[in-house]
Amino acid sequence: MDKIVFLEPVFCERIWGGRNLEKFNFSIPQGDIGEAWVIAAHDNGSSKIINGSLAGLTLKEAYEKHPTVFTEKVYDKFPLLIKILDASDNLSVQVHPEDDYAKVNENGELGKTECWYVLDAKEDAKLVYGHSAKTHEEFNSRIDNAEWNELFIEEKVKEGDFFYIPAGTLHAIGEGILIYEVQQNSDTTYRVYDYDRVDKDGNKRELHIEKTKDVTTVPFEKVVTNPKEEKVGESTITYLANEKYFSVFKINVIEQIVIEKNKTGNLFTVLEGDGSIVINGIKHNVKKGDSFILTTECTSYILEGNMLLIGSYDR
Ligand code: ZN
Repeated sequence: MDKIVFLEPVFCERIWGGRNLEKFNFSIPQGDIGEAWVIAAHDNGSSKIINGSLAGLTLKEAYEKHPTVFTEKVYDKFPLLIKILDASDNLSVQVHPEDDYAKVNENGELGKTECWYVLDAKEDAKLVYGHSAKTHEEFNSRIDNAEWNELFIEEKVKEGDFFYIPAGTLHAIGEGILIYEVQQNSDTTYRVYDYDRVDKDGNKRELHIEKTKDVTTVPFEKVVTNPKEEKVGESTITYLANEKYFSVFKINVIEQIVIEKNKTGNLFTVLEGDGSIVINGIKHNVKKGDSFILTTECTSYILEGNMLLIGSYDR
């Protein structure tokens, strides 16, 4: 069986998208492209396998046929969904449900806990992370009275920042931010505020006020993950999060680093630079924008070159 599987992303047009995903060597379709689903196996979009014995299958099809190639634990569906987002405009302020709520209210969908690594941010870029209401009454009345400035908590962001967003956290990515997102494999979003925007046909997007009130955690509790750095020669591994559904880490490769896979994960994207990954003496060249999965057959690997990768795995 293959030890490494390379993937071709799916691109999604969004009202808030732009053209910045071209920076990742992607040939993106025309229009305002907001999302590249780089490692995806969802009904609403699945990346395609482009090498080896599974070439031509979508990741969703391949996981249904051969789950143990991809994950040690067998799940009903591939557990994670990984995207690069280009917020050329503000995203809606939104919240995602927990698993139990999504299962009952969204036809068996999973809940969505997610996290963001900021790849780039314009000066003074901001995002919404949490809310100020102390009680459900206060939360509901702020929404009913459209007191958004009083309700939303904004944070300034810069390249390299990391945010962990458990289900129930009110959030929005702001204009001028490029983000790498690792999340549960779910596409369930409840929008509470969309800046009263209309699309090219003059329509506003649907809001989900009652569901937002149902699932938002009140009061907001900020969850801080404490990233830990490990030097390996000249290279650095930074463990960004080790939480309920996933672990996420960043590898800054300088020249060469030999890695035992059980110390890191299996889902990767190259986010800066280029180089290669060597598995059992076989070298695969990789560059910015490439995403790949190390299968359960792969136990150790060597990264060479000068590049930044983010890796993750299910828990
Ligand atoms: Zn979200």
